[in-house]
Amino acid sequence: MRKFVIAGNWKMYKTNAEAEQLTEAIKGKTTSIEKTQIIICPPATALETVSSIVKDCEIAVGAQNMYWESQGAFTGEISSEMIKSTGATYVIIGHSERRQYFYDTDETVNKKTLYALQTNLNPIICIGESLEQREEGITKDILNDQLEGALKSISAEQMIRLIIAYEPIWAIGTGKTATPEQAQDVHAFIRTKLQSLFNAATSNSVILQYGGSVKPTNAYDLLKQNDIDGALVGGACLEAESFSEIIKAAESLS
Ligand code: PEP
Repeated sequence: MRKFVIAGNWKMYKTNAEAEQLTEAIKGKTTSIEKTQIIICPPATALETVSSIVKDCEIAVGAQNMYWESQGAFTGEISSEMIKSTGATYVIIGHSERRQYFYDTDETVNKKTLYALQTNLNPIICIGESLEQREEGITKDILNDQLEGALKSISAEQMIRLIIAYEPIWAIGTGKTATPEQAQDVHAFIRTKLQSLFNAATSNSVILQYGGSVKPTNAYDLLKQNDIDGALVGGACLEAESFSEIIKAAESLS
């Protein structure tokens, strides 16, 4: 049985003082959550602050990016080892904003993923098509290439530690959401692709998140779909109230 995983991507928001306040508020509003895994992904500067607040509960912490070497002359980058030293256990890799503004490619996503797995950090790999690609009818070709590129040289045992987040670029931060049917169709495609790359047991175990303007008002209908096992939430995770409502929608379906 796959459990729901709701992750909040804070992007470049929240100073340490704000991070402390928001984390305490999320913690306070989710004390009754037992079956849903919650992950908070603050900016790197707040990883340790957030980790120290949630260390006595089941909320996990993740970084938003990493580099594929343990240390070295890579100004501005952070390593998996550094992330883990803060108490974080997850890392978002290949978010569309990183692909668009900071030149992440399927190849660098693969390098980061392999290094994260090797050093025991759990990756959340983001994939998704642009509006032009959807309109051209090549969504599944794009996702096929992104999956093959990101998952090169990854074993079936490693695969079950990975989360795949399907985030159509046209739905991120735009207020436009894929319909539950559109999202389910793509998630089913991703699961079938994972079966052909690995095997049925692996593909059935992997958590597939949907991301793109998930809100308390649409979370339930999206999460109700067979192959949607959680959400990667941007804007709505910056307020404890809306983030906890999304988490509660998942919990109610568990
Ligand atoms: C995201 O940043 O991954 C995201 C899905 O953002 P939003 O929920 O704001 O669309």
